[in-house]
Amino acid sequence: MNIKEVLAATSDYLRKHEIESPSLESEILLASATGLKRIELYTNFERELSREILDKFKVTIRRRLKNEPISYIVGNQAFMSLDFFVDNNVLVPRPETELLVEKSIDIVTSSKLPVSNFQIADIGTGSGCISISLAKYLPAVMITATESSPRALDIAKKNAKHHQVESKIEFLQGDFLEPLKDKKFDLLVSNPPYIPTKDIETLMPDVRNFEPHQALNGGPEGLDFIRKLITDGPKHSDTIIFEFGFGQADAIRKLCLNVKILKDYSGIERIAICKNK
Ligand code: SAM
Ligand code: GLN
Repeated sequence: MNIKEVLAATSDYLRKHEIESPSLESEILLASATGLKRIELYTNFERELSREILDKFKVTIRRRLKNEPISYIVGNQAFMSLDFFVDNNVLVPRPETELLVEKSIDIVTSSKLPVSNFQIADIGTGSGCISISLAKYLPAVMITATESSPRALDIAKKNAKHHQVESKIEFLQGDFLEPLKDKKFDLLVSNPPYIPTKDIETLMPDVRNFEPHQALNGGPEGLDFIRKLITDGPKHSDTIIFEFGFGQADAIRKLCLNVKILKDYSGIERIAICKNK
């Protein structure tokens, strides 16, 4: 079979199995199996595929039909137009978190402080997507990233190295804000775990069965880590920006008196900027 035929047959097959974006996912998986870019599939439509490549491709299709996230199957996810290596030790970077990074960049560039003195702490760095994007788009800032999972931290370091920003980010393993000790920063940024524990069982199987629960579980109301950010964060920074979940905005307004809440691109309240001064 050639590329065109394989793509058509696979799209049909994935559609029948209720995969949401069958054509796109067929292309991503075939690009990964062939080592071609997605665009190159189109310019090589007539190319015949070897048995070896087809077998490799079929394995990835079987994984996807068991609801494994496509980012884990191909081993990467784009975020802020950068490529991040991911596996099931880290949360797959989400589009809404790009807004958190964009707003953080706005805070830095509109600050009175010279960018070259700016110190940022990223709490619960996971794949490192927030820290690394900030380091790429704001080359003068210095970043400290914390993470409790040693395996996630290894992936964050690998991504930092790949993007050549390892000298700009200090990675610290430990519990939430603790690794920061008494250090002060100009901005604290975090996408903490914020799903209420009982809601985890109701998430899509792609998330529930494959993503690390340590990255999702925010305690009984999903607010455990958010409370820590609001209560203990001010010891480290006068400005704290973080992502939160559906329906949590009112609780956050009560916890933090000087807060600005921003909506994501779907119109859902998603980002909080807390000021302590
Ligand atoms: N920053 C990444 C992103 O935006 O894609 C990952 C965010 S994920 C929602 C939360 C991260 O916090 C996970 O990597 C998880 O392992 C980490 N985490 C959970 N509990 C933690 C703790 N007590 N201390 C530090 N990190 C923690
Ligand atoms: N946005 C993620 C989800 O809904 C949750 C990430 C988080 O807890 N910070 O799957």
